[in-house]
Amino acid sequence: MSVHGINPALATQARKVTGHTASTAPVPVPEPTALALQYHRSGNLLWALDTTAGFLIPAAILFTGLSARLRRVALQLARGRWLPTVAVYAILFVALTAILTLPLSWYAGFIRQHAYGLSNQSLGDWLGDWATGLAVGCAVGALVLWIPYLLLRLSPRRWWLWTGLATIPLSVLGLIVGPIWIAPLFDDFGPMKNQALEARILTLAARAGVEGGRVYQVYKSADTKTVNAYVTGAGGTKRIVLWDTILAKLRPDEVLFVMGHEMGHFVLRHTLSVILGAAVLATLSLYLVQRVAGGLIRRFRDRFGFERLSDVASLPLLVLVGGVVSFVASPVALAWSRRQEHEADRFGLEITRDNRAAALTFVRLQQENLGVPRPGLIYTLWRGSHPSLAERIEFANRYRPWATGGKMRYQHLFRPCAARHRHITD
Ligand SMILES: [Zn+2]
Repeated sequence: MSVHGINPALATQARKVTGHTASTAPVPVPEPTALALQYHRSGNLLWALDTTAGFLIPAAILFTGLSARLRRVALQLARGRWLPTVAVYAILFVALTAILTLPLSWYAGFIRQHAYGLSNQSLGDWLGDWATGLAVGCAVGALVLWIPYLLLRLSPRRWWLWTGLATIPLSVLGLIVGPIWIAPLFDDFGPMKNQALEARILTLAARAGVEGGRVYQVYKSADTKTVNAYVTGAGGTKRIVLWDTILAKLRPDEVLFVMGHEMGHFVLRHTLSVILGAAVLATLSLYLVQRVAGGLIRRFRDRFGFERLSDVASLPLLVLVGGVVSFVASPVALAWSRRQEHEADRFGLEITRDNRAAALTFVRLQQENLGVPRPGLIYTLWRGSHPSLAERIEFANRYRPWATGGKMRYQHLFRPCAARHRHITD
């Protein structure tokens, strides 16, 4: 499932002078607080630790022969039947990985968030979310793992290509059912409470040509103090989701800019390109597996405890190679993501024409989420899914072709009802 959030810190957001668009004075980029800098630095360290664990854990499961032992247990539980063996192995592997990473997840997601004053979630709620995530992971694993292993049997030479292609319908399916089957397991979704603001958002959506999309408010304030909004879903489940924290902390015109940004993702079909990009990466990873697996298995057969790639015990090898490919490809994938986010910002600016609201939105994002405006090069290359906050504030201050006679990039996409509702949406 893929979503485009406004908030770079989260798999996913001021103050205004009275009379709004009247003021076009540039908004200065705030200096980061000492706490934000500390949060940023320790976050980088944690990311390095997490990334290392992401390589070491599958490698350990593979090289100690633990994977082969898990497969033997699965085989026994499934009484030798192939499909149930694969499903049981998937559940054992997902559960083992989740348990091994539990201390790190608990520190990063609970202890640390509380230490920085970003979370007010109880331990029980956090554990509940963790267990739910684990159950979803096991279910998804059990439902899909047979696909590459069946293809390995049917087409030992081209399985990597067919599996890579299969990720496209699977991602689309995930995107369709995610918002209705998965997301409600973690959060409570409801209609927007502020109906006046909802009406302004729907008018904006009509101008942007986003039809059939819904706006949901999610009750996150019980768990977190950070703010976020994102677009997700496909077809009948297409939606924009606003955390109630963002609604509490942003002014209506700033929420409208956020909405303009999110609508930009829909109109510019960013989710589709993310799904296609992920399929290319998956295909590349699996192709690499195909190239290296034979040699590795010959060399480490005794340690691995299996003889063929088509043995489901080879899963950690797939995970490991996939992790390496993702890591190497990250700078390119993230540069692409930053470009999309920049274009969504441009879309939001062109449709709202409210430079100040846009700039103040990013100021608010920085303040509420302990952001730093100008992260370093390593962060940008490996973690920067969005342009830096400083770049976003500066672009929001500067980009106003409608006033300077410059060329608008997305004006032609806006619906003519704009003129009629101009007084509300501006
Ligand atoms: Zn975005």
